[in-house]
Amino acid sequence: MFFFFLIGIGDTRKNLDVLQGVPIVCPNCHNVSVHAIRHYRYVTVFFIPILPFSWYKELRCDICGCEQPLRDEDIQNIKMQQQQQGGKGNINNNPPPYNQV
Ligand SMILES: [Zn+2]
Repeated sequence: MFFFFLIGIGDTRKNLDVLQGVPIVCPNCHNVSVHAIRHYRYVTVFFIPILPFSWYKELRCDICGCEQPLRDEDIQNIKMQQQQQGGKGNINNNPPPYNQV
């Protein structure tokens, strides 16, 4: 008897509502095009997501594709900056390592 299983790894990105509408400047291309997203990775069986094994938040620029990990304290800092300045959030005050895709 022969069993055939098609197993793979998938990933999905969903927008985070927590920073929706907050303009954030990209540290690489300096455009206001950065969005907060949640990134999921999971094991698939026959292309059906079965077992998530990794999920994290990140900031991603729509123009240059740069990605940066997003911690909960970064979200609070961006929100506080926007409330104090009433303007653009800036993620450059304490830049973590920056990854370019
Ligand atoms: Zn950019």
